[in-house]
Amino acid sequence: MKRLTQQKVETMVRERGLKLTPQRQAIVEFLQGCMNHPTADEIFVAVNERFPMTSRATVYNTLNWLKNAGQVLEVFEGGVARFDPNLDPHYHFVCRACGSVEDIDLDSIGPLPHCTLPGRQTVESFDITMRGLCAKCAPRPTVSVIL
Ligand SMILES: [Zn+2]
Ligand SMILES: [Zn+2]
Repeated sequence: MKRLTQQKVETMVRERGLKLTPQRQAIVEFLQGCMNHPTADEIFVAVNERFPMTSRATVYNTLNWLKNAGQVLEVFEGGVARFDPNLDPHYHFVCRACGSVEDIDLDSIGPLPHCTLPGRQTVESFDITMRGLCAKCAPRPTVSVIL
């Protein structure tokens, strides 16, 4: 499983002669354990709990830096950029009730049908977002008790 790790970032920082400030490190630490695709604002709030002086600019710069280095993916949902430390190819499931974004493994939905585009486009990648109700929001099936 390919994911953002502190170790990868440290190697990258060393190779490129960058500086890993405690704030940047806190952003990496927070993101690497994240499964919920936080927005830059959510990351800003979380990191400020540990480093109250972290600026929004630091958060945005660090996210851009990680994104350009291929260490996080940027996922757009509802016009808001969310950040994803899961670097394996995967799909997303978005809950229309609570707005949560979950990872869906490629294996869990099987191969996609092959399709040909009508134009002369060259497809390099594509994203799939499934929508519905997450396990927490879906109404529980009523259990019928047979006596
Ligand atoms: Zn939900
Ligand atoms: Zn994801």
